Amino acid sequence: MKFLDEYRNQALAADLVSKINQAATKKWTIMEVCGGQTHTILQYGIDELLPANIHLVHGPGCPVCVTPLEQIDKAIAIASQPSTIFCSFGDMLRIPGSKYDLLEVKAMGHDVRTVLSPLECLTLAQANPDKLVVFFAVGFETTAPANAMAIWQANMLGLKNFFVLCSHVTVPPVVAAILQSPHNQVQAFIGPGHVCSVMGLKEYESLSRHFRVPIVVSGFEPLDLLEGILRAVIQLENGEAKVENQYARAVNNKGNDQAQTILQDVFVLADRAWRGIGTIPKSGYKLAHKYRQFDAEYHFAIDSLKAEEPAECIAGKILRGLAKPYECSAFAKTCTPEKPLGATMVSAEGTCAAYYKFAKFSLAQN
Ligand code: SF4
Repeated sequence: MKFLDEYRNQALAADLVSKINQAATKKWTIMEVCGGQTHTILQYGIDELLPANIHLVHGPGCPVCVTPLEQIDKAIAIASQPSTIFCSFGDMLRIPGSKYDLLEVKAMGHDVRTVLSPLECLTLAQANPDKLVVFFAVGFETTAPANAMAIWQANMLGLKNFFVLCSHVTVPPVVAAILQSPHNQVQAFIGPGHVCSVMGLKEYESLSRHFRVPIVVSGFEPLDLLEGILRAVIQLENGEAKVENQYARAVNNKGNDQAQTILQDVFVLADRAWRGIGTIPKSGYKLAHKYRQFDAEYHFAIDSLKAEEPAECIAGKILRGLAKPYECSAFAKTCTPEKPLGATMVSAEGTCAAYYKFAKFSLAQN
């Protein structure tokens, strides 16, 4: 296949659905890791096409959703300082902090900007030597290399007024945390295609071996996901547990060497708090000591902040595949994309936002 619409071909989709129906003789719970995959599943009604014994649950692969409230408050505290130009991708500006969001900080007169690339911040820093330019770096292994490159380049340029508020997280530790949870229901994973295009398959082979769980690394189009689900079901039915690569057009075993090299140079693994899930050891990146001068947390020395999640928000359970958005009492009532209470409603990749957008308001529509 060469063109995008071929990955949305209805006849091929129907054939895959029929094969899943034939293959699935038992009840299986499968989690897709990425928020982008969740959106495709809901947008194309893949969950409704599957047999009733295949239960899809949605994973923690939405970077905006898993950034802790304390980190949003920290971003707001830095952005509120007088000589700061605070930059981030668009979604982050709408995430509610404990009191307000970054867009409201901008409305109060502070310099908060949306950028499309961290490299834009280097140009801003060069053009505004009297200002402190801070980039809010969130995301998984997919976005981390570009952010690492910006830090590396800032070092090469000798910039003294560029900083990164680093909130990067990595996928394998959270997959392990889900599997180790006593409440876990997930029996197989649709693995994160874009993350694996950077990191390769090695880490997932270790996870699959250790936890005896099938992982099918898949793409983001309807046929990708249906084929990924079919392969996962076949493994489960056969009692197998291995990594398969459905997304071979983008992912190879080794991943991207150059991206991995820059990640290893700029970042080190660090314990990270995941919103709604808690702290997972070595589940994210922080700046390596030699790049410490670019670390916003070090430079601005913001004290650890304590923030309370809205009591009714069950995003933590949703991110671990233990609940669906319509089980939240606030869903589509007091929590909507226009007035979100939790991060999974704010982000374009969030599960609650997807359920709202595609009108999945009850179990009957699942
Ligand atoms: S609907 Fe809103 S309050 Fe409920 S879990 Fe989702 S984000 Fe949280």
